[in-house]
Amino acid sequence: MSKVAFITGATRGIGKQIAITLAENGYDICLNYRKENDELNNTKKEIENNNVKCLTVQGDVSSFDDCKKMCDEIIAEFGKIDVLVNNAGITKDTLLMRMSKEDFESVIDVNLTGTFNVTKNVVPFMMKARSGKIINISSVVGVAGNAGQTNYAASKAGIIGFTKSLAKEIGSRNIQVNAVAPGFIETQMTEVLSDSVKEEISKNIPLKRMGTTTDVANLVKFLASDDSSYITGQVINVDGGMVM
Ligand code: NAD
Repeated sequence: MSKVAFITGATRGIGKQIAITLAENGYDICLNYRKENDELNNTKKEIENNNVKCLTVQGDVSSFDDCKKMCDEIIAEFGKIDVLVNNAGITKDTLLMRMSKEDFESVIDVNLTGTFNVTKNVVPFMMKARSGKIINISSVVGVAGNAGQTNYAASKAGIIGFTKSLAKEIGSRNIQVNAVAPGFIETQMTEVLSDSVKEEISKNIPLKRMGTTTDVANLVKFLASDDSSYITGQVINVDGGMVM
């Protein structure tokens, strides 16, 4: 029986590559999306090209009710969730002096509360199964901080505290919880940066380049696999050595 992986925010960027990489490795995929569009349909096709099942589940991770509904749909279809990847995330960058309360709260709501909402609904099924892998996508910014990102860095640092606490709570049930902290990865989220800013950032990265979505997906593949069965509560950077 194939393993089932649930990935949030998976129609594009890092989430899409994680879904495709896991599909290439034989996982059935539950793909969360917010709005139906071409990106969703193309990603679903790419996943199904690997002869695995792809269930699409609509929902906003900042809504607890949506997360419960998505989880119920997955259990009705597959009866289990082996791997959860909390990937959905947003940025609303600006200096604190200019940041509105709404800018702060919306980023926390999606990135941090969203991770809680999904995980809270998935964990009971993993507890019953006495196995599971939870992989939370944080950021090196949650470790090192970044000017202009107090909201985002707080949400990503919160994910790290959440990861370590949950790892301690449910390790005895054979469930591993880890965080992945990407550095600068080429996606639509970082496309907004000018070429000169990207060059400047790359200069300060020991490996002298931005990362690819595949760089991140390969680490998630390892954490999802049995090869990582003695690793829990860790934050692993995928950042070309940017933060040490
Ligand atoms: P992206 O903007 O390309 O993708 C984000 C995805 O999340 C999109 O599919 C979007 O629809 C989805 N999403 C946003 N809000 C949602 C909500 N409320 N409910 C459900 N889905 C929602 O960004 P990305 O670069 O692929 O980022 C993926 C993850 O990696 C994010 O958590 C991001 O913070 C993290 N990250 C990215 C980088 C980077 O350099 N790109 C670095 C560190 C961490």
